[in-house]
Amino acid sequence: MRVLLSGGAGFIGSHLCDLLLKKGFEVVACDNFITGKPSNISHIRNNPSFKFVEQDISNPFNVDGDLDYVMNFASPASPIDYLKIPMETLRVGSFGTYNMLEIAKQKKAVFLMASTSEVYGDPLLHPQNEEYWGNVNTIGPRAVYDEAKRFSEALTMSYHREYGLDTKIVRIFNTYGTRMRLNDGRVVPNFVYQALNNIPLTIYGDGKQTRSFCYVDDLIEGIFKLLTSDINTPVNIGNPHEMTILEFAEIIRKMTGSKSEIVFEGLPQDDPKKRQPDIAKAKQYLNWEPKIKIEDGLARTIAWFQFNQVPEGQELTEKGIMQALKEVEDPEIGLSIVDMELIKNIEIIKHEKGALVKVKMTLTTPNCPMMGYIVKSVKDKIETIGGVTSADVEIVF
Ligand code: UDP
Repeated sequence: MRVLLSGGAGFIGSHLCDLLLKKGFEVVACDNFITGKPSNISHIRNNPSFKFVEQDISNPFNVDGDLDYVMNFASPASPIDYLKIPMETLRVGSFGTYNMLEIAKQKKAVFLMASTSEVYGDPLLHPQNEEYWGNVNTIGPRAVYDEAKRFSEALTMSYHREYGLDTKIVRIFNTYGTRMRLNDGRVVPNFVYQALNNIPLTIYGDGKQTRSFCYVDDLIEGIFKLLTSDINTPVNIGNPHEMTILEFAEIIRKMTGSKSEIVFEGLPQDDPKKRQPDIAKAKQYLNWEPKIKIEDGLARTIAWFQFNQVPEGQELTEKGIMQALKEVEDPEIGLSIVDMELIKNIEIIKHEKGALVKVKMTLTTPNCPMMGYIVKSVKDKIETIGGVTSADVEIVF
């Protein structure tokens, strides 16, 4: 079985790559690293059943060979991200979905669309079942994501009806776990990062809004069951265990033993007040329900964040940055970019909220096939250093 997976270097996409490889699939993953990370797939890069293509799916592209499945997981998914890059979010949720559907049609492959609980907007029905049409502000800031996903669902169902394509739609509710980006702005990385560093936990609004958090391993099992099922209508996959954001903050504080206080900040526009999946359909037709308790999932997530973040408070120096970059390798040559003397110039510009790091990197040819991968790896590495808010990487030939 051979599968094309877009968003393969993302949080959920990379976990799906692992699961599909484990199940014996051949995986062709693509990503443009706009929010995905090379480090999420570095452990499988040399697996002979795994192939990676750097590709923005919003532009048309081809894939060699047969495909049995096409899975569309490419999109910014954190509210902070899609507000920062609204055009890219709209493009991937429209042109991107169209391009992936065209490939599925051409290859006669089963198509699976990663949709979202955001299609329900700020729901008036609770919990949300798949029959509910939602309550979305079509012109609000979140609409770039919500409406793009709703359009993707409409397009997917049209390919099913018009061309008889075997399509699936999964509506993914809040998911957490290893490989979430430390700075993606979502509540799980924010609270865990803040708690581990004993800085105030930022609750938006009064904290009475609710969410239901599903551990990523449970989620991808559900997605796999849907992929191999005969269900063509949307299915909610998520954990129905609902809690307020305030309760969630308390759990994180307790589990990390943190001394962080709680501070209240403004609520983002159109932030849904309640969210809980009705998973009766997944239970009945896929025989799926989540198994991992929030304490167990969070224990794994917190351990991962502890290991993957550089603690705050260390003096930020050129030498420290060089040291961190030693771990970044050219994937083709297998040598550290520092040992290959590609890093030429590091500038640290300190601001009140954290430093901007500018790096000049030499590459011998503008056609270096892994250029995007290497640049993104450098940027990611620098941005996990405590005290850094962002990194600029300039290529010099
Ligand atoms: N939130 C918060 N503090 C943060 C980040 C998020 O209180 O530092 C709230 C946010 O306003 C929302 C909930 O936590 O009500 C979940 O936010 P997230 O961005 O994780 O995803 P959403 O479910 O809104 O897509």
